[in-house]
Amino acid sequence: MLRALAIPRAAARVSPAWQLARAYSSATKEYDTVVIGAGPGGYVAAIKAAQLGQKTACIEKRETLGGTCLNVGCIPSKALLHNSHLYHEAKHGFAKRGIDVGEVKLNLDQFLADKDKAVSGLTRGIEMLFKKNKVDWIKGAGTLKSANEIEVALNAGGVESVSAKNIIIATGSEPSPFPGFEIDEKQIVTSTGALALDKVPERMIVIGGGVIGLELGSVWSRLGAEVTVVEYLPAIGAGLDAEVAKAFQRALSKQGIKFKTSTKVIGSEKKDGKVVVSVEGAKTGKPETLEADVVLLSVGRRPYTEGLGLENVGIKADAKGRIEMADGQFRTAVPTIRVIGDATVGPMLAHKAEEEGIAAVEHITNGYGHVNYNVIPSVIYTHPEVACVGKTEQQLKEEGVKFKIGSFPFAANSRAKTIDDAEGFVKIITDAESDRILGAHIIGPNAGEMIAEACLAMEYGGSAEDVARTCHAHPTMSEAFKEACMAAFAKPIHF
Ligand SMILES: Cc1cc2nc3c(=O)[nH]c(=O)nc-3n(C[C@H](O)[C@H](O)[C@H](O)COP(=O)(O)OP(=O)(O)OC[C@H]3O[C@@H](n4cnc5c(N)ncnc54)[C@H](O)[C@@H]3O)c2cc1C
Repeated sequence: MLRALAIPRAAARVSPAWQLARAYSSATKEYDTVVIGAGPGGYVAAIKAAQLGQKTACIEKRETLGGTCLNVGCIPSKALLHNSHLYHEAKHGFAKRGIDVGEVKLNLDQFLADKDKAVSGLTRGIEMLFKKNKVDWIKGAGTLKSANEIEVALNAGGVESVSAKNIIIATGSEPSPFPGFEIDEKQIVTSTGALALDKVPERMIVIGGGVIGLELGSVWSRLGAEVTVVEYLPAIGAGLDAEVAKAFQRALSKQGIKFKTSTKVIGSEKKDGKVVVSVEGAKTGKPETLEADVVLLSVGRRPYTEGLGLENVGIKADAKGRIEMADGQFRTAVPTIRVIGDATVGPMLAHKAEEEGIAAVEHITNGYGHVNYNVIPSVIYTHPEVACVGKTEQQLKEEGVKFKIGSFPFAANSRAKTIDDAEGFVKIITDAESDRILGAHIIGPNAGEMIAEACLAMEYGGSAEDVARTCHAHPTMSEAFKEACMAAFAKPIHF
């Protein structure tokens, strides 16, 4: 580490030992809290720590802040989803609404540039927030050296030593590889490559019918690719309420996406400019080959801890690579080092990481902090959108909890009918005795915004009757949520 440190000229006149000591001490920056990783978990934790009066630094090795979420995750994927929906609507939906636009053409370069603009605007925004809140961004890769020391291999060259009373690991995750597939981010791509394909593939195979695969599969399908989703499980949507998963698959099938569920992927081979994927029936063992121009591997993500130096400080990861917590305050086995976000257990979601970032910092500064893991919503930003929070019917059955269900279709919601976007339903699950809301599952227009109402009600221990007796504006989609609550505790009016 000392090798790389520049020794000041004035110091060069005194003894080498002094020079080294001086160089070392002057280069060691001291902080109250240092966060490693500037994704939604890390940057939020750093800003919160600074707001609470801590001298704070955030170490990030990417050239831009915001982590996976802003650079290659939530933000670019939502930009592509939004614009591909507009394109698809202009091409296939406008005419029936009485809007003639002539020939609709895709300008893929501009389409991708617009996504990049959204990303750069938001990542620069985090940089400004760091400046405003006086968070130092140390640009480089951090390695834990001891309970209070981190060595940073600076992006600009050289090494810097940083000491901190508290360290928060927020190093996030990376796409999981899949045996038999060599990722080149051109033909065999992860989500990162699928955000920047240089042409619309004629055929695309999506391996894994979870959130990321369905979102990015939708994007390229809307732009004209023939998309086939291969999923090992019998249903898509990775753990969605079964009724929602079924309706979701039906909706996407109507849009032209093909599904091969209960199908095991065996391997791949590149042949004549194509990728040939061999699969077999998960139960039947019946072999089949599929061919595509691009294969998207979306089989999940794994925690990213490469080069972090966990072994230097005796912190362990579990079999899935998730850094283990020693207590409910996000502490690892080393009490001064905490972990949040995708790098540890729990759903790999940006808002979960943010909540943990705030709570971890509050534990450090105030001694208390809180994340309600029963109320972490999840949204799939396809069309229709899918959003859920809390328990599914299947989970409650397994747990032996007595429950009631209230459902309401968007086909009976005046706003959805007015704008001719009425596919899907709201399903509310309540405790059979207390009427308390235990879960909400929505497939339909605006589901991702509407789920916030369920979260708020659940956070306050609200009942279906509480929501049903709350006045909702008319005509809004949210009236479907109110009516589903009415259905759970009494009867809906409009269905
Ligand atoms: C295509 C896609 C779409 C997604 N869509 C959504 C969505 O709609 N909603 C949602 O909630 N979630 C979504 N996610 C998941 C979401 O992006 C992650 O859950 C979230 O980014 C996790 O935040 P984090 O702070 O834990 O880590 P990350 O965002 O992964 O950030 C970690 C950061 O740490 C840095 N880092 C790692 N190691 C070091 C080191 N040693 N030194 C310095 N820096 C380091 C990395 O460079 C990275 O920038 C999506 C993910 C993908 C891939």
